[in-house]
Amino acid sequence: MATGRLSINLTGIAANWQALDALSAAHVETAAVVKADAYGLGVERVARCLSQAGANTFFVAAAEEGGAVRNAVGPDATVCVFSGHMAGDTDMINDLNLVPMINSVEQLTRHLEALPGRPFGVQLDTGMNRLGMEPAEWDAVRDITLSQNPVLLMSHLACADDPEHPMNASQLEVFRAMTDGLDVPRSLAATGGTLLGSDYHFDMVRPGIGVYGGLPFEDAQPVVHLSLPVIQTRDLMEWETVGYGGTWTAKGQAKIATVAAGYADGLIRAQSNAGTLWDGDTPCPIAGRVSMDMIGVDVTHLDRVPDSLDILCPYQGVDAVADAAGTIGYEILTSLGHRYQRRYITG
Ligand SMILES: *Cc1c(COP(=O)(O)O)cnc(C)c1O
Repeated sequence: MATGRLSINLTGIAANWQALDALSAAHVETAAVVKADAYGLGVERVARCLSQAGANTFFVAAAEEGGAVRNAVGPDATVCVFSGHMAGDTDMINDLNLVPMINSVEQLTRHLEALPGRPFGVQLDTGMNRLGMEPAEWDAVRDITLSQNPVLLMSHLACADDPEHPMNASQLEVFRAMTDGLDVPRSLAATGGTLLGSDYHFDMVRPGIGVYGGLPFEDAQPVVHLSLPVIQTRDLMEWETVGYGGTWTAKGQAKIATVAAGYADGLIRAQSNAGTLWDGDTPCPIAGRVSMDMIGVDVTHLDRVPDSLDILCPYQGVDAVADAAGTIGYEILTSLGHRYQRRYITG
C-alpha cells in the first residue's frame, strides 16, 4: 500500500462542537461552519455527525457547497451561504432551500425579485473590508430590508484570534451601532469571537476551525491522524545529499526513509528541511525538499525503520505542522489530499 492513511475522528469533532457550544449561554445558538468540504475533512460525514451532535444551522461559502450539506443534514436544518445570492444561484437557493447572507444592494434586489418571501440574512461589513454592506449602504436600505424580515444580521471579525487586538472592540462597536434595537437575530463570532466572551456572542456563534481541532481553540481535541507508509530506505555516507536540489547533506553516516506523500497530497513544500514526522513519540526531521509524491525523512537515530511515519498525530497537530510550513492550521486541513485512504472513526 503506497498511500497515506488519514483517520478523521468524528467523535472528537462532535466533542469540539459541544465544547464550543458550552462557552455561550443557553439562548445562544451554536451553528457550524462546514465550508470547503468541512475544512477538508469531508462535509457529508462531518455535517451529519454535527447534526446528530445538536447543530441545526450550517454555513457554507458558496451555494454550490449547499447540496452536499442539505443531503447530509436533511430538510429541517438551516443551510446558510456566506457569499449570498450571486447571479446564477437562484435555482440552487430555491431547490436546496438555502439561506443566502445578502452582501450588497445588488444581491438584495436580486433576491427579493427572484425569490420573494424566501428567507435571507444580511452580512454587514464592520471593518474587515471583505464582504457585506458597509454602514452607509446599510443605512440606505435598512428599512426596506427589515420590512422583508431577514432571519439574521451577521458580521465577521478580522482579528479575533488575538484577544488583545483593538479591532475586536472597534468592530463590536460598529456592529452594535448598525444593529442595536432592530429585533433581528445577530451573529458576530466565529471560533475566535466565541472565545472572546459573551459580549461577542449575540444570538448565534459560528465556529469552524475550533470544531476541527485548530487554534485559536486551545482546548480542542485533535481530530486527524495521518500516517505515511515508508516505501524505501537509503543508507548515506557523509556528504551525500537527499532530494531535488541536493539541499540536505549527511553530516555522517545516515539513514533516510522515503515516505509516500508530497505536496500533491497537501503536504506543502515549505516544510522542506523544516518539518517533522514521528515514529510513535520519536521525532524524525524531514530531509531535503518535499517532492510531489514523496518526502525524505532522517531516521538515522531509530533502532529499526518502521513501516510508516506519522505527520499528524498526538505529538504534532495541524498547528505544529503549519508552524513548520509558515502557515496556519486552516491551510493544512483544507489542503489534505485526496489520495489518502480516509477512515472515519467514531466512539
Ligand atoms: C470561515 C468563517 C467562519 C468560521 O471561522 P473559523 O475561524 O474557522 O471559526 C465564520 N464566519 C465567516 C463569515 C467565515 O468566513
